[in-house]
Amino acid sequence: MMKEGGCRPRAASPLKWLTQRPTRVTRAWCSGPASPAPADLWSTLKKALFIIGSSTIVFVALRNSLTYHLQHFWGASGDFWQHQWDKILHTYGDNPFTFMVYGTTIVSYVVYWTVGLLYTFVDMTGYPAILKRYKIQPGTNEPVETWKLIKCILWVNFNQIFVGVPFSMACFYLLRLRGWDESRQLPTFHWVIIELIICILMEEIGFYYSHRLFHHRMLYKHFHKMHHEWQSPISITAIYAHPLEHALSNMMPVFLGPLLMGSHVATIWLWVSLALLSTLNAHSGYHLPFFPSPEAHDFHHLKFNQCYGVLGVLDLLHGTDDKFRASKCFSRHLMMLSLVPPREAYPDVLPKGKVIRGKQCYDQPSEDSQ
Ligand SMILES: [Zn+2]
Ligand SMILES: [Zn+2]
Repeated sequence: MMKEGGCRPRAASPLKWLTQRPTRVTRAWCSGPASPAPADLWSTLKKALFIIGSSTIVFVALRNSLTYHLQHFWGASGDFWQHQWDKILHTYGDNPFTFMVYGTTIVSYVVYWTVGLLYTFVDMTGYPAILKRYKIQPGTNEPVETWKLIKCILWVNFNQIFVGVPFSMACFYLLRLRGWDESRQLPTFHWVIIELIICILMEEIGFYYSHRLFHHRMLYKHFHKMHHEWQSPISITAIYAHPLEHALSNMMPVFLGPLLMGSHVATIWLWVSLALLSTLNAHSGYHLPFFPSPEAHDFHHLKFNQCYGVLGVLDLLHGTDDKFRASKCFSRHLMMLSLVPPREAYPDVLPKGKVIRGKQCYDQPSEDSQ
């Protein structure tokens, strides 16, 4: 018999799944064995090729009905969003420059500070206290140093206005040169999904290599060192960076996808908002339930030379996440589907009688379980 308790689930009340430790590990895409080896990379590639190949066959076979159903699904809500978009055009005119430059700046600003200040409120007040249990680096920024915070807020505002606006203007003229969707009609639902996937992949490539370049010893001390002043980051440090780095390593990777695809400005607003929410979460210092894991980028701030990317695909390919994979943080690098804090589900020092297998915490099998 196995012992009762510990990390394993017990008989459940209706809401038990919210509070019990994970019964099933939802692996982050980069999960795997603790230390990567060439064989692991080959097996990962084979699995990826198998998944992409099978999905392509299924997609081709079902393309027509899939397209029909997506369009059908989009139908009613698509009319709703088109109606809202028409209202915006009616109110603000339909000057593409205004929408691309000022619209994108305002959308970014509102998303960044609405979410960023919520996190900052928690950091400054320690309220609600329960969130302390979700901190990735407990005991840090409790509370945040006031002058450090003010400096961060001022620099972020500088970047958003004096780097963000000229950069958006440059993007507008590049989009004009390339040819882009300037119509009053919103793109279809499935086209938006396809464009978002391209944007995510382009951002991974753009951010990984530009970020790694800024870690070169010739560039690091002049530019990127500033972003790494925060060894334990908070949400609004996401774009606390040297202006040149902000343009080349924060904004450029985000705009690669829209430039490649000639995206509609509404898709650009949606994508920029999602990219900002992702980086705010990655820097927040909190690993919250049902949120994508911020462990990898937090580990980057802690150790400096690990986990340069967003998704982690290129870190795996280049082996720049080996120490992360060998660390305890990697066992927590998954989306938590229960309210148990990751540090409690996967503690640094296991309670007596517990063992970790894969990413799961189990009771040590006792003599009588044989
Ligand atoms: Zn960072
Ligand atoms: Zn860095």
